[in-house]
Amino acid sequence: MNIINGLLSLLFPTECAGCKRYIKDFKYVYVCPACYDGLRQLQDRICPACAKPIQSEHADGCRECRERGNEFSYVLAAGVFEGALKEMIHYMKFNNKKSAAKVAAGLIMERVDLKIFIGADMIVPAPLSSASSTARGYNQTYEVAKYLSEKTGIPLMQSVRKIKETPAQNTLDRKERLKNLKGAFETKGAVEGKTIIVVDDVFTTGATINEIARTLKKASAMEVRGLVIARSI
Ligand SMILES: [Zn+2]
Ligand SMILES: [Zn+2]
Repeated sequence: MNIINGLLSLLFPTECAGCKRYIKDFKYVYVCPACYDGLRQLQDRICPACAKPIQSEHADGCRECRERGNEFSYVLAAGVFEGALKEMIHYMKFNNKKSAAKVAAGLIMERVDLKIFIGADMIVPAPLSSASSTARGYNQTYEVAKYLSEKTGIPLMQSVRKIKETPAQNTLDRKERLKNLKGAFETKGAVEGKTIIVVDDVFTTGATINEIARTLKKASAMEVRGLVIARSI
């Protein structure tokens, strides 16, 4: 078995992020065609603001959104943060895989309602702190945003900068995340009156996109929409 895997890895040096089989189809690099087709999309009944699946008949959104009042107008996601998509994002983040960013951008273009791009003035990647982008060598979200900009012709602008180091978000609840992110961003360049698409990898509680949107709107941006690879549900 090891010999076979060894040989395969020489011939096809990529294994599928989902099922771990070796793949050679370049279009689907990091995810084989079967796993790619199987990536779960969000259902029809989702909150129109934060894309969270909802059970109730509330057309005006989920309880969280009604209670908190978002700074962003809405967010769209290419799929659910699980399985092969989760693995792909992990690869992108920690293995410096720019081609995975390209696949992720392709998935977004294929699966979200492209109306999100209508009337948008710029695409802005959610920034990493300078320490984390230096350590990693690149910002995976920037790579995804760059491909989306190339596909749509909407200018890519790094209009938001992270000015405060914040501890990892994933161990914190929403309240702690919000507190953690307070004052973490600042705008760069003119955003006044602009409709802006903020690109991020995963939307969990929405704290990051909300704080970025708050920062942009404080600088007089007109509207902020969120676009992410995956929605954690
Ligand atoms: Zn697979
Ligand atoms: Zn919601």
